[in-house]
Amino acid sequence: MTQTLPNGRVLRLMQGDITRVAVDAMCNAANSALAGGGGVDGAIHRAGGPSIMRELDQIRARIGHCPTGSAVATGAGNLPAKWVFHAVGPVYQDGRHGEAGLLMSCYATCLALAEERGAETLSFPSISTGVYGYPVDEAAPVALRAVKEHLAREDTRVREAVFVLFDQWTLEAYSRAFS
Ligand code: ADP
Repeated sequence: MTQTLPNGRVLRLMQGDITRVAVDAMCNAANSALAGGGGVDGAIHRAGGPSIMRELDQIRARIGHCPTGSAVATGAGNLPAKWVFHAVGPVYQDGRHGEAGLLMSCYATCLALAEERGAETLSFPSISTGVYGYPVDEAAPVALRAVKEHLAREDTRVREAVFVLFDQWTLEAYSRAFS
């Protein structure tokens, strides 16, 4: 599914493995320790190789951890990208603990990192809807709104953002929120 905004920027949904989609910047669903994990984070480290963790070690030495709702940037090792933005999504409790704001902030931080670096194409996984337990039907509209609002800006350098959704169920939830 593809939507072209009035300013020519493109928002796209596809099913697949994010590590195989070439972009300028690939966003990751990391944890606040930046220590590597399962899910999409594991896939990104496996495909990208050890240089990404080495950079995260340095970032960890400098800042300790990455707060929920924020993100840090590294190079992309062997991945088909220039950068990886490691965003820390909220662990879902009941939806009344600021989860939507924190989730929105993950996407916004990745978009801000993209602007700083001049990344024109960006990919996102469905942050927080795996191990972190965010119901995908609740997360999808938040994620899409955050990215679409940014793409609609006249001055954005981002030309295209693509959500690469791993399973059919997640793709369907995002497709419903998309239309
Ligand atoms: P979180 O801890 O933020 O919930 P997870 O990695 O557990 O992160 O899950 C986030 C989403 O990423 C889930 O929908 C999961 O199915 C998906 N995912 C897992 N592997 C990949 C991959 N290689 N590419 C894209 N999405 C993936």
